[in-house]
Amino acid sequence: MADIRLEGVGHSYDGGRTWALRPMTWTWRSGRAYALLGPSGCGKTTLLNIISGLLSPTVGRVWFDDRDVTGVPTAGRNIAQVFQFPVLYEEMSVYNNLAFPLRNRRYPAAEVDQRVRRVAQLLGLEEHLRRRSRRLDPGRQQIVSLGRGLVRSQVAAVLLDEPLTVVDPAMKWTLRSKLKEIHRDTGHTLIYVTHDQTEALTFADEVVVLNQGAIMQAGEPSELFLSPAHEFVGHFIGSPGMNVLPAELVDGVVRVGDAPVGRAVGQAAGKAAGEAAGELPPGPVRIGVRPEFVRLDGGVAGLAARVTGVDRMGAYNLVHARVNGHTLIAKTDASAAFEPGASQSLRFAEGRAFLFRDAVRCGVIEPLDGRGEA
Ligand code: ATP
Repeated sequence: MADIRLEGVGHSYDGGRTWALRPMTWTWRSGRAYALLGPSGCGKTTLLNIISGLLSPTVGRVWFDDRDVTGVPTAGRNIAQVFQFPVLYEEMSVYNNLAFPLRNRRYPAAEVDQRVRRVAQLLGLEEHLRRRSRRLDPGRQQIVSLGRGLVRSQVAAVLLDEPLTVVDPAMKWTLRSKLKEIHRDTGHTLIYVTHDQTEALTFADEVVVLNQGAIMQAGEPSELFLSPAHEFVGHFIGSPGMNVLPAELVDGVVRVGDAPVGRAVGQAAGKAAGEAAGELPPGPVRIGVRPEFVRLDGGVAGLAARVTGVDRMGAYNLVHARVNGHTLIAKTDASAAFEPGASQSLRFAEGRAFLFRDAVRCGVIEPLDGRGEA
């Protein structure tokens, strides 16, 4: 295993006119489980293929620890890759499919047997070991492919490109927790590509959010949820995503229309409040606040809001409210009774409403009097 460092790595498929992957510097640390999360076309597969050596980057260098592998083909990189669809020898038994990557690298027979049985046990394939792979359904074939990716001990990293697409939804939950177990067992560096936030958040130690060929933010799932660094992360993670409300910054106070909502404190992502930017210049800003942190509780100090609709989700309600011509969503208790047309006072949970400029986080809203909620 190795730290995998991308140094100024970027890729263009059209001679530099557009970047599928914008030049970036980033390290995948050895032994961690990463999810690479982003919408279709954002560059996930391009990035994975650059790490595995299937693709040579247009610019930049790829390092495995202190070894420059930029020009090294896939075979010389010691990477295991699992694709969206099963890649296996259909005429071979499941056992032989799992053993193949090991025999190919001349692992001793006893170790082959021990590793095959261990991975088969973890993936629930024990009773299928003697079956011909062709006879399995596509979901189980994909599990065998997953096993082939995970069976080796000495790999720089295991790259998984949307590996659970063909697996049925009920099985996905089981397999994700199996993958976590296997990760704990083997200590492999895993990079798991997905466009599904649930998949990313339940699987990874660290989630790397990619959009339009650039890393927007990387962090633990809770960090991405509680402290989005970019409006995109706010929208893409969470269900529903972060609300955005246009506001104005005047003399250090955030105002929505005529109403003051709090004090603006400069705060770049990943820094403590006040550490980064200090005073924010006056002018337009956008408030970003997740539905979980919008309070509709009728207090006197809040923003005037009118309820326009309620989605009853069973476990909770989503209350839609108009504020200064914009709609915000509040996630409330299922038992909370809000009726369309009702007037409410709306507030934000303290420290959970952020300020954005050019979609990038620049600050946080703090209470005007330094106490209580904003
Ligand atoms: P998906 O989730 O749909 O697989 P992705 O995030 O993996 O998408 P990539 O497949 O890396 O994204 O594609 C990034 C961009 O590069 C897209 O605009 C895509 O159209 C383009 N692209 C990918 N492969 C090629 C190629 N071989 N030739 C030209 N353009 C390509």
